[in-house]
Amino acid sequence: MMAEFDYEGRLGRLRRGMAESGVDVVLLSVGSDLPYFAGYEAMPLERLTMLVVPAGEAVLVVPELEAPRVQARPDVFAIKTFGENEDPVALVADLARQPVTVAIGDHTWARFLIGLQERLPHTCYLPATPLTRTIRVVKEPGELGLLRLAAAAADRVVDRLRRMRFSGRSERELSALVRAMTVEEGHDLATFHIVASGPNGASPHHEPGERVMAPGDAVVVDFGGRLSGYCSDTTRTFHIGEPSTQVREAYAVLAAAQEAGRRAVEPGVTAESIDRITRSLLTQAGFGRHFIHRTGHGIGLDGHEDPYIVEGNREQLLPGMAFSIEPGIYVPGRFGMRIEDIVVVTNGGAEELNNSSRELLIVD
Ligand code: ZN
Ligand code: ZN
Ligand code: ZN
Repeated sequence: MMAEFDYEGRLGRLRRGMAESGVDVVLLSVGSDLPYFAGYEAMPLERLTMLVVPAGEAVLVVPELEAPRVQARPDVFAIKTFGENEDPVALVADLARQPVTVAIGDHTWARFLIGLQERLPHTCYLPATPLTRTIRVVKEPGELGLLRLAAAAADRVVDRLRRMRFSGRSERELSALVRAMTVEEGHDLATFHIVASGPNGASPHHEPGERVMAPGDAVVVDFGGRLSGYCSDTTRTFHIGEPSTQVREAYAVLAAAQEAGRRAVEPGVTAESIDRITRSLLTQAGFGRHFIHRTGHGIGLDGHEDPYIVEGNREQLLPGMAFSIEPGIYVPGRFGMRIEDIVVVTNGGAEELNNSSRELLIVD
């Protein structure tokens, strides 16, 4: 389900970007650019769906059998269907009218791009993301409203997890409960539900398995879902019974690093500076080599999107950008821990969308 947004305005901004960068036509297929600009999500199937955006009228090329799924928006795009015996690539090439430069969505199947290159061999092909990202990276108020709802639903799952018994359950069993609660608390679907216990916690994207959790385990729970198209993503670390001094001390450093990252967010600072701040606190405490990923990623229609909070990304934060701050400590063979919140850049600093407890959460 998609909320109603100003698609005409969004396409207007895209066309201004095209004019400035000398792009004649933008072609958007599977992936999140299409729902962002047209309010329609293509099924990721072998049949082509493609929004053709020239300077003039946009046309959504869609398989005839999927046309009933399309909500018509005549002010935004015309609809052109094709039957099972027609060649949709020829149709798109026709609509594009011998463009000099085409920008094509990242997620378009290679086979359609190769087909277009055969039909329009003199055209220059560029990625569409440099154009679409600048528009999508700053969230509109309506998008922020949905991100807030998704984050609050995720927080309610954490609150329920705190009252649950972990000991004696397998990771897989707890993961299934997280998935169910993610939907019960208001998401349309759960997209991932990592439960990584004991030494498995040292693998940031561990696949929950048969390991049965027991007292003494730290348990990393990282999960999210989609609500009206928009994603949630939060991580909390639980501990079954009283943690050792080593775990408690490591967690205190992690919590301080994560908080320093959140506090540093404001317009004008660079994305990489947020990574540096969290990383430097972990490094000073001797955990630098145990923090093996970037500090965060943007979030919106995609679970991972711009801006990436990583060394080397010098882009300045702008009000309306939404991203995670999720440092972790991973000690191979021993334990892992991570704290992840979604924040939004505001005029004065940051709004924290996740507000469940960031303590090391002691459970039975
Ligand atoms: Zn991750
Ligand atoms: Zn996550
Ligand atoms: Zn994340």
